[in-house]
Amino acid sequence: MAKILDGKAVASKLREKQSENLEILKKSGRIPGLMTLRVGEEKDDIAYESSVKKRCEKLGINFFSTVLDKDIALSEFKNKIEEINADGGIDGVLPLSPGRKELSLAVSDMLDYKKDIDGFTDISMAGVFTNKKTGFPPCTARACMEILDFYDIDVARKAVTVIGRSLVVGKPLSMMLLNKDATVTVCHSKTENISEVASSSEILILAVGKAGFATEEFFSPGQTVIDVGTNYIDGKVYGDADFESAKRIVGAITPVPGGVGTVTTAVLLTQLIEAAMSKERS
Ligand code: NAP
Repeated sequence: MAKILDGKAVASKLREKQSENLEILKKSGRIPGLMTLRVGEEKDDIAYESSVKKRCEKLGINFFSTVLDKDIALSEFKNKIEEINADGGIDGVLPLSPGRKELSLAVSDMLDYKKDIDGFTDISMAGVFTNKKTGFPPCTARACMEILDFYDIDVARKAVTVIGRSLVVGKPLSMMLLNKDATVTVCHSKTENISEVASSSEILILAVGKAGFATEEFFSPGQTVIDVGTNYIDGKVYGDADFESAKRIVGAITPVPGGVGTVTTAVLLTQLIEAAMSKERS
């Protein structure tokens, strides 16, 4: 029976560190500020925004929200980003899926990378690829690394397969694993014999977006599975792994819910506080 890699324990350790760092900031008279930048009224965005707001309020962090009309003109949107960049009270910005491609491009081109606490900008992404720590990685990619680290799962010299190559999860996470000396294989929708590749790896990361995608032939004894998938069916959330099969076969697995997603929100606030602290130092 697999060990369950509980995300709550990881999030709780991150929160302890956040409290310590917040105390340091508050002693020097600084309260960090987080702004959500939402375009339109997507239900999932509103839900995420309100959970971030609650967390901020609990920690005594200043929370601001900018809500823009889904039909906003590109020029007006760009002006808003410039305004946010110049606002000294905002240390970190969480852009909530701007939807339209030109708006996403404006965020990745223009948002100040020092405030880019969810790794949207090209500069943040370059930081991940060059391992130079400019900006921040996407929170979900870092959440996977935090889970491995918390449970003492060393990735160096291990064969790791990442299924999924998005800019939010698969690609940055593959680079972060490579930076830690893992031997990384990245799979996607055109990969042949994917279950063979997956089952021959010591660590398997699933970031596909299909409930129960990885069935028993993807797994092997002793393997660690990190399931990033968040798939809603009839109001219930499922991971990308067929959890019952995985639990029977592998050595350790993150649950859904209660795994990567739980850690992701905690990472967001960790990165906000890091952004505020690095401003303090500069
Ligand atoms: P995405 O942009 O849709 O990317 C999905 C990736 O899966 C793509 O690279 C795609 O390959 C690959 N894929 C799709 N079908 C496949 C198949 N049959 N075989 C192999 N690969 C296949 O999704 P994402 O944004 O990376 O998110 C992935 C999952 O993670 C989703 O369930 C999402 O909800 C979840 N997620 C969770 C969190 C969290 O905090 N827990 C955060 C972000 C995302 P191609 O590139 O070839 O199309």
